[in-house]
Amino acid sequence: MDEQTPAFTIVGAGLGGALMANYLGRAGHRVDVYDGRPDPRAQGFVGGRSINLALSTRGLTSLADVGLADRVLEDAIPMRGRMMHSARGELSFQPYSKDPNDAINSVSRGGLNITLLNAAEEYRNVRLFFDQKLMDVNLDAPAVRLQDQQSGEERVEQARVVIGADGAGSIVRKVMAERPLFSNSVEFLEHGYKELTIPPTEAGEFAMEPSALHIWPRGGFMMIALPNKDRSFTCTCFWPFKGENSFERVPDRASVQAFFEKEFRDTIPLMPTLLEDFEQNPTSPLGTVRCYPWRHEDKVVLLGDASHAIVPFYGQGMNAAFEDCRALDARIAESTDDLEVAFARYEEDRKINADTIADLALANFIEMRDHTGSPAFLRRKRFEKTLHRLLPGWYKPLYNMVSFSNIPYAEAREIARRQAMQIRFVGRLIQIALVLIIVLVIGMTL
Ligand SMILES: Cc1cc2nc3c(=O)[nH]c(=O)nc-3n(C[C@H](O)[C@H](O)[C@H](O)COP(=O)(O)OP(=O)(O)OC[C@H]3O[C@@H](n4cnc5c(N)ncnc54)[C@H](O)[C@@H]3O)c2cc1C
Repeated sequence: MDEQTPAFTIVGAGLGGALMANYLGRAGHRVDVYDGRPDPRAQGFVGGRSINLALSTRGLTSLADVGLADRVLEDAIPMRGRMMHSARGELSFQPYSKDPNDAINSVSRGGLNITLLNAAEEYRNVRLFFDQKLMDVNLDAPAVRLQDQQSGEERVEQARVVIGADGAGSIVRKVMAERPLFSNSVEFLEHGYKELTIPPTEAGEFAMEPSALHIWPRGGFMMIALPNKDRSFTCTCFWPFKGENSFERVPDRASVQAFFEKEFRDTIPLMPTLLEDFEQNPTSPLGTVRCYPWRHEDKVVLLGDASHAIVPFYGQGMNAAFEDCRALDARIAESTDDLEVAFARYEEDRKINADTIADLALANFIEMRDHTGSPAFLRRKRFEKTLHRLLPGWYKPLYNMVSFSNIPYAEAREIARRQAMQIRFVGRLIQIALVLIIVLVIGMTL
């Protein structure tokens, strides 16, 4: 192999790829990173995905690892709970945690990506190449065939290891899927998403409470909004593509206006460009990617959405991708001389956790859109918080373990199951004790 061939070739300079470049750069490896998009620092960010995202403990832990957490948090807005908007415009706030310091952080996708790219480029052993679209991968060589998006010319670059960080539509994964015994599934939701904007008020202030994630739960569909640093909010409509209360039912401006007046009335005065935004902004699909294996020998390995894209309802896709980077870096450091072992350990560690958060994210969609507004849900949340306050050593709500800890997702789900069983058991004991007391009292009074 040519002396010039880098130790790692990362395809995709999105959130996961750019963070991985920081990890490997810090470890002293020579790294080349290719992305099909133009350089967002020169051309402006071309995302095509959500404008802002919720960054929580897992993601922050990885950013702290490479010395970037403080830099990223400077531009983040902490959200300490959910602000529910009823159809009549009533507001109710549900803190995420008993601890007021627990918050998820709204960050700009473009800003975060640029911070990660700038930091990666500070390592002299990391090189970034934009407008370089991956067309094909030779898994055995390994080598990547790239197309320059300016000239249209194609060329092949030899690699030692290819890291596929090329997102949900990963070409690296698709090439791996052509091999025998590779499982690859993409399941689309019946719901899609469309982004809208609530600009700052005329006085330049936030039009709603900034330290909350706003939710308009409507049962079967919903809208959410996250604050931005420029004091605007990005709203996201999660509606079915077809059927009742769907995108298909609002084909023109009059029907959009009527639907918002019925379902999201309180936002109308806050959204002066609602009709234009609705018309111009795309409606995009949402899906879950599951695949296995995530690696090919000691030559190719996947991370982030390329291996496990999930629906966004737990706010964990990026956080999970950042956890992947931390895990992959650790396994490579442990087994630099045998990368096949490193990749196998990484896959074993991450696959089960990626599957778990994929399931939890799907379940949370139903919770957010159908239950967050219901009295039964609010009672359950209050009960969970009370237990957490009274018995913090024993009881931790699942949401807290997922968003405010680094407990592996699969373990968090197991703990939550165990806690639920214990609560049911104690509930039964209390019921039996009450019945016994009633029988005793009746017996004594007769
Ligand atoms: C609406 C929405 C809201 C979300 N909200 C949250 C949230 O609140 N919190 C959270 O943690 N996660 C959230 N996510 C998930 C998050 O966006 C992803 O999990 C995260 O971006 C994954 O990072 P990645 O690097 O794997 O992929 P990406 O960020 O998609 O990066 C992939 C990169 O690969 C490049 N690429 C693709 N194909 C090629 C090719 N052929 N050649 C070269 N380059 C290529 C792309 O240009 C891109 O730069 C949300 C997702 C959506 C859709």
